[in-house]
Amino acid sequence: MALSGLDIFKLLPKTNCGDCAVPTCLAFAMKLAQKKAELSECPHASDEAKATLGAAGTPPIRLVKIGGANALEVGNETVMFRHEKTFFHQTGIAIELRSSDGTESNRVKIQAMENLTVERVGEQLTADLFFVTFDSENGEVFLDTLTVIKELSTKGVILNCQDLTVLKQGLEILKENRPAIYCEAKPAEKIYSLAKTFEASLVLTARSFEDLEARSNAAVTADLNALILNLEAAGFGKKLQHNTLLRRSALQQNFKPFGYPLLTRIKGATPVEILAEASLQICKYGSIVVLPEYDQALLYTLFTLRQTIYTDPQKPIQVDPKVYAIGDPTPDSPVFVTTNFSLTYFMVSGEIENSGVSAHLVVTDAEGQSVLTAWAAGKFDGEKIAKFIKDIQFEQQVKTRKIIIPGLVAQISGDLEESLPGWEVIVGCQEASDIPSFIKSVELT
Ligand code: SF4
Repeated sequence: MALSGLDIFKLLPKTNCGDCAVPTCLAFAMKLAQKKAELSECPHASDEAKATLGAAGTPPIRLVKIGGANALEVGNETVMFRHEKTFFHQTGIAIELRSSDGTESNRVKIQAMENLTVERVGEQLTADLFFVTFDSENGEVFLDTLTVIKELSTKGVILNCQDLTVLKQGLEILKENRPAIYCEAKPAEKIYSLAKTFEASLVLTARSFEDLEARSNAAVTADLNALILNLEAAGFGKKLQHNTLLRRSALQQNFKPFGYPLLTRIKGATPVEILAEASLQICKYGSIVVLPEYDQALLYTLFTLRQTIYTDPQKPIQVDPKVYAIGDPTPDSPVFVTTNFSLTYFMVSGEIENSGVSAHLVVTDAEGQSVLTAWAAGKFDGEKIAKFIKDIQFEQQVKTRKIIIPGLVAQISGDLEESLPGWEVIVGCQEASDIPSFIKSVELT
């Protein structure tokens, strides 16, 4: 039977020491009840607590970290569908580097990965991992590639090397970076020992559920818990089916051998196939996808999809409600108004900036909703906009008395003029992309 947060709290030391990185024992108990923490994070838990909590103190899908200071965290998911709550740890995107490509070619890709950061709705989006494959005559290029990663990057690394001597040398190079080891075949005892020595996580690959279960149990018996599972499949429809069954077993049956993050090596032959396969993994339970090549256009697309899937549906991304200066506005500059939904803010501010005109952008608190949704919910109307402008004493900061509202809510113009005496309300365009031509077409000040 699942224990409540209060039941768990009774078993904790109640000293609120904070050693578990949560300020109080009660807050930690709540996290345990939600399966978002593990009892082992409390170094002071009594034997009685350990015995009683047992499986209740372990999340159904373990959290696994790959990397050092900038470690990627995957797993710790608690729901099948995003709308039930949220997905917590976004899919890590890895790029494969092969020793057969040569160190210089790999260096170019590593540098490109380091330089690739895209800002979208206020978040920095980037790829997360290198998946380095040893497929050449000797280990030199493989090891050189790891050295280049160490020099240029803080991203995590997964080592795909079936030669145990070279693997050990690679782990030595990255020893501060807590890499992961990719096991193509059944792991040998020596791999378990290397994983323990270097605190590396293990990616277990299998071709059947039975084999995967056996490998997962064997790793746990060898005292390894930082596992990632890769159940191979012929075709990506089959892979989707596997992912769903693994996730269901972990969450709904609490089947421990499958309670780990999932990895997929994308096999597509063309960019379109790679995109389709990787997108499916991002949507359906892939914790790590390994792309066969570095392709900037493809990465941009996957970043956008990933950001959408891994945004908490109960908490829209929002910006602070306030007046934003676009360019270098003066008291005579035009005044635009919109809501504090991030995507809306970034699109509107970007298009005003593109027009080359400096302006004040009044962003009201609409609880992170877009213009039409906020209007329909009664959170973006004439009265509320006027109240916000008065509360922040904006009228005292500008001379202009013209305000441009989004064209989608033209119906609030009369209400706003009544609530904001002395102001002229101008109905703007419906699409943010039309803002530059709209600005040219009207007298705004
Ligand atoms: S480490 Fe343990 S005792 Fe300290 S606050 Fe966390 S749960 Fe309480």
